[in-house]
Amino acid sequence: MFLVIGILVLIALSVGVAVIAHQRNRHAFAWFVIALFGSPLMGILFLLALPINVDPLNLNDGRENCQRCNERIRKYAKVCPFCGVEHTPNYS
Ligand SMILES: [Zn+2]
Repeated sequence: MFLVIGILVLIALSVGVAVIAHQRNRHAFAWFVIALFGSPLMGILFLLALPINVDPLNLNDGRENCQRCNERIRKYAKVCPFCGVEHTPNYS
């Protein structure tokens, strides 16, 4: 009986690790497997130690988030097509 509870707790913790991994743009399923077969505590510590992964899809696609509505808009757009707010192009 304790074994069953232990496995359930392990799975629950592994799901937690997967959720944290997803929030930090890491591969959720890979981290779930690591936590399940390794140790959930180890997985959490590793995740927290790693820097937040920058989503590679958001890099250099010529777009950025609108400061008002947070939709992805063209970097050099002068007006946001979603909410109509004036947009200051970021030429950096
Ligand atoms: Zn907008």
